[in-house]
Amino acid sequence: MTIPEEFPWLEAAWQRLGHYIDSARIPQALLIAGPAGLGKLRLAEAFARRLLCSAPRQEACGACSACRLLAAQTHPDFLLISPAEPGKGITVDAVRALVSTVALKPQYGGHRVVLLTPAHLLNVSAANSLLKTLEEPDERTLMLLVTDAPASLPATILSRCQRLDVGLPDPRLARQWLAARLASADPDALLAMARGAPLRALSLQESGMLEQREAFFEAWRSCLKEPLRALPVAERWHKTACEQVVDWMVGWTIDLIRLWADPVRAEVGSPDLRPSLQTLAEKLNSRELFGHLDLLQGTRRALAGQANKQLALEEILIRWSELDETS
Ligand SMILES: [Zn+2]
Repeated sequence: MTIPEEFPWLEAAWQRLGHYIDSARIPQALLIAGPAGLGKLRLAEAFARRLLCSAPRQEACGACSACRLLAAQTHPDFLLISPAEPGKGITVDAVRALVSTVALKPQYGGHRVVLLTPAHLLNVSAANSLLKTLEEPDERTLMLLVTDAPASLPATILSRCQRLDVGLPDPRLARQWLAARLASADPDALLAMARGAPLRALSLQESGMLEQREAFFEAWRSCLKEPLRALPVAERWHKTACEQVVDWMVGWTIDLIRLWADPVRAEVGSPDLRPSLQTLAEKLNSRELFGHLDLLQGTRRALAGQANKQLALEEILIRWSELDETS
């Protein structure tokens, strides 16, 4: 299956990459940037395959010796640089190994591709080391950087890369694509949760995130006016997903404020929960909701530091349980 067949929203990006090859103007450093969950890495890998293939058409042939070596992950002119462990940074050692390899000619006499992902996880010394490679480019080496967070990359790296931005698909296209892959789940709720990114929506569905969120929503709602319920709920949720549930509460509080202001036209982040949110919004007053939103956002910042998760969750849930109703 071609990239545009598999991920139709990547068609324009795929065409632009193809144009680089057709016009023999391959950039020396290319940054593919855009939100998570769009298939940017798959796009970059398909581009690398097509560039290294000895008989490519719109896609790599899949049969030549270069394609077979790539499939076996033994192509000497393809290098992947990524964190040694998920969530860790890309270290200077990984980049130094690259610098020494790039000093040699490509072994197959064609291009060499260095795929660096996620590029924003380069630590400072790794980025400095990479800059040396970017300053003395070898015209047959393509540095392909992929990131969800281009703003986190050093300006010195950004300024040396051509950039290909991949945007969110049209919502109708995303919905159609996702609905074809779901047996029963609600595509709109998943897409809203994934902020419009179809692959992210699919992985949220596979990990049961929608059901988890609904279970937490019920627990959260049951705490209102019932302070005694707050502590057991905090106990149950702090270990598994504290940052996640704080994010959900931020989203629902914003939804409540919007519904309070305009019950009919408000756009909500959790469309699957709209009727329940609507009922809650009618019970609460907006001044209290704004105050609660401040508290949640402050907690979210504190959790990014060293805050105690259970205490933070207890405080939020107790304050939530004590919110005043409209009088
Ligand atoms: Zn091939």
